[in-house]
Amino acid sequence: MSEVLVLVDHADGAVKKPTYELLTIAKRLGEPSAVFIGAGAQGAEVAEKAKAYGAEKVYVVDDEQIKGFLVAPKAEVLQQLAEKVLSGGGGLAAILIPSTTEGKEIAGRLAIKLESGLITDAIDVADDGTTTQSVFAGNYTVTAKVTHGTPIVTVKPNSAAPQESAGAGAVEEFAATISDAAKGAQIVASQPRQATGRPELTEAAIVVAGGRGVGSQENFSVIEALADALGGAVGASRAAVDSGWMPHSYQIGQTGKTVSPQLYVANGISGAIQHRAGMQTSKTIVAVNKDDEAPIFELVDFGVVGDLHTVLPAVTEQVNKRKG
Ligand SMILES: Cc1cc2nc3c(=O)[nH]c(=O)nc-3n(C[C@H](O)[C@H](O)[C@H](O)COP(=O)(O)OP(=O)(O)OC[C@H]3O[C@@H](n4cnc5c(N)ncnc54)[C@H](O)[C@@H]3O)c2cc1C
Repeated sequence: MSEVLVLVDHADGAVKKPTYELLTIAKRLGEPSAVFIGAGAQGAEVAEKAKAYGAEKVYVVDDEQIKGFLVAPKAEVLQQLAEKVLSGGGGLAAILIPSTTEGKEIAGRLAIKLESGLITDAIDVADDGTTTQSVFAGNYTVTAKVTHGTPIVTVKPNSAAPQESAGAGAVEEFAATISDAAKGAQIVASQPRQATGRPELTEAAIVVAGGRGVGSQENFSVIEALADALGGAVGASRAAVDSGWMPHSYQIGQTGKTVSPQLYVANGISGAIQHRAGMQTSKTIVAVNKDDEAPIFELVDFGVVGDLHTVLPAVTEQVNKRKG
């Protein structure tokens, strides 16, 4: 069976959930091989995790010589690895990359290097490699398939439920030759964002978002309390961000982040098209709005007409009670 390369999404060796989703998708297309570009010493630990989600092979690429050189070296690593697999004669069914900003840039560079077709922001990939994308602010669903070279597909978080299944997880170290051109830009300093203790917005299985109807920065505590009770992330509409109540990194929509959680709870959000663009592929949508004609209700699976300041604390209390 042909290999499917999956680029491991991680932060300093801590594997992120989209990796497991990609490995699950990879199994539909061929034999999953995880590609870990990071500290070599963490390779074995990462391999154990990837193996549990079906990785037959785990290529470990020590990033010592490319650390901090942005994305260009990673594209070269994948190019050389793909060429190695192809020259081995076993076949390469696809290369799956997380649809992050970095992932999409790596994918674009890789597609040029391998002269292969590229599909970005897929929300599903079928057994035959046909991808599904949600485009034009979510107004159209497009199915597409790469017809030239090795299909390179970037897949959005939450596009598949990760399924555990034991793979062989054979670790293979791979050393790429990185060109000087790929080392043209280097990160000289970075500072981690202050941790909130909540899941990353684009990866969260549950998102609780607030809009102008929340009324103030202080009132966002009701949104945060429900998010914490549910173990979810906090999001916001642009109106809430423009009002200075939440940072831009929380904005969901056309000019913010795109989320596709299992559960999206929109509170005091009217449901403008630009907001929908960032959340309408959520699996279950719940809205709390005091206006029963708010457009968000056209989208919902469950709607509550009411004042969020009354409804949310009551829901939070019930959730916390059930958690015991
Ligand atoms: C180019 C462009 C890009 C944009 N990009 C984005 C984007 O990325 N994301 C985004 O969100 N918007 C975006 N917008 C803005 C978008 O058009 C809307 O203006 C915005 O989404 C409205 O935010 P809102 O729903 O919070 O506010 P409003 O539309 O003002 O809605 C507030 C809602 O809260 C309800 N409400 C009020 N009080 C309560 C209460 N106590 N309890 C319950 N409900 C209450 C009201 O009934 C109302 O429905 C963009 C606009 C443009 C032109």
